[in-house]
This record gives sequence, structure tokens and C-alpha cells, in this order.
Amino acid sequence: MRKSGSASAAIRNVSQTSVGRCPICGSVSVFLLTDKDNPRWGYRCIRCRSVGRNRHVALVLAEALGAASLAEVRRRGLQRDVYIAAASGYLLKGLAVGMPRLRTSEFMPGVKPGDVLPDGHSTCQDLHDLTYEDESQDFVVTEDVLEHVRHPSTCFAEIRRVLRPGGQHIFTVPYSHDRPTVQRVDTSGPTDVLLMEEEWHGDSIRDRVLAYRNFGYDIFDQLRQHGFETELKLPSISTRRAGVYDSAVFVATKAE
Ligand SMILES: [Zn+2]
Repeated sequence: MRKSGSASAAIRNVSQTSVGRCPICGSVSVFLLTDKDNPRWGYRCIRCRSVGRNRHVALVLAEALGAASLAEVRRRGLQRDVYIAAASGYLLKGLAVGMPRLRTSEFMPGVKPGDVLPDGHSTCQDLHDLTYEDESQDFVVTEDVLEHVRHPSTCFAEIRRVLRPGGQHIFTVPYSHDRPTVQRVDTSGPTDVLLMEEEWHGDSIRDRVLAYRNFGYDIFDQLRQHGFETELKLPSISTRRAGVYDSAVFVATKAE
């Protein structure tokens, strides 16, 4: 897990501190830059501790649900079916595991997909082969997951299957505008074959997970081939009030 930096670092970077409403916890909060080399990770909400990437995803999801924050969605209750491919994390400090019409999951090797996990609500799910019914979800949310799956094309097809027409896959992945996808591992056979130096990302469940690829601009073509129209949400002056500065959120809409 990348370090968030220290309080003293935040004080040194105080000129880049901002105040606004957090789209996760819903509080009027201060967003402190605790790691200026990595603002995607370094801007912490002092109330819920979320970072900018979490808040950007939350902002897009909350707006799609007609609310200013996930905490507001939680108070009102969900009117749409939302599947978040995680069983913990900052989005679930705004929403709540177990709330009606919210599905949450974690991939657990050795656990049968569909089986309920120890939290009593989430299930084991493999994005290559979800146990959910066709057209059962209005939103699917994945936050930095698809760089770690062996076959993203299979996952996009599976996410499309479970979305209703007009439904949206809201997601983040490490992404560069200026080059095509870099495949780091050959996954065409039954076992992984490294094509370049291993890149590991921190993970709260497994400690670290291998990055199979760094996505590039061809991701839009991949999504189009799977029947999605995709918009990339970038930070703007207005997202600064939500403590969002340096992230990109994909919104892939399943054609009606
Ligand atoms: Zn917050």
C-alpha cells in the first residue's frame, strides 16, 4: 500500500489544501495534500481519510444517483441496483455493506463464486464469471481492479451482461492518454509469463497484486467492441471542491 505521507508533509503543502464537501462522507471537510509527488493518492479528506481517486469515483456515482455524496445516498436508500466489486474500502464508508440494493464482493481464491463471505453480505465473485443474473444491475463499480485481471475483455463482456440497457460501468484503472495499452504479462496460456519487470500494487486483502497491464487509449476501442459508449471524466475547477485533482474516471454506458 502506498504511504499517505505525514501530517508535517501536509503542513508543508498547506498552500495546496482546499475546503469543500466530500462526496463520500458528505461532510464539509479539508482536503490535505500529504504526498505532493502523488496527488492521486496524497489528498486525504480529514473526516473520512479517503483519497482523491475514491472521491472522484464517489462523485460520479453519487451524481448518477442524484445525490451530492454517498452518505446522502445511504440516508435516502438506493433506488437503483449497484454492484461494487469490493467488500471494503472508502466507497463503503459512504455507502454501507448490506444496505438494500447494494451488492459487494471480493475475489477469494478457494471460495466458490457466489458464496457469502464472513461479513454476511458480500459474496465471492470473479469478474470473468459473475454469478449475477443478466441485466440485474444499474451500476457496476470497479476501482483499480481491471489491471489485475487476466482477461479484461472477458470481464467487460461479463459486466455488460449483468448491466441493464443504459446501465453504467463506472471505473478507474491506471491509464495513459498518449500510448496504447502496455501488456506486462502474457496471459494467453494457462500460466502467467512475464514480459517485463513485475509491477505490484498494494492490496488490503492480499497485501499486493500483480499488474498485468497499464491501459492506454485503445481501451475505448475495447469498450466499444463490447457495446459500451465511454466517457472519461477528468478533474475540473468544480471537482476541486470535492478534493479531486488528478484522476480519471471511466463511465462506460451499455447501449440501450
Ligand atoms: Zn470525506
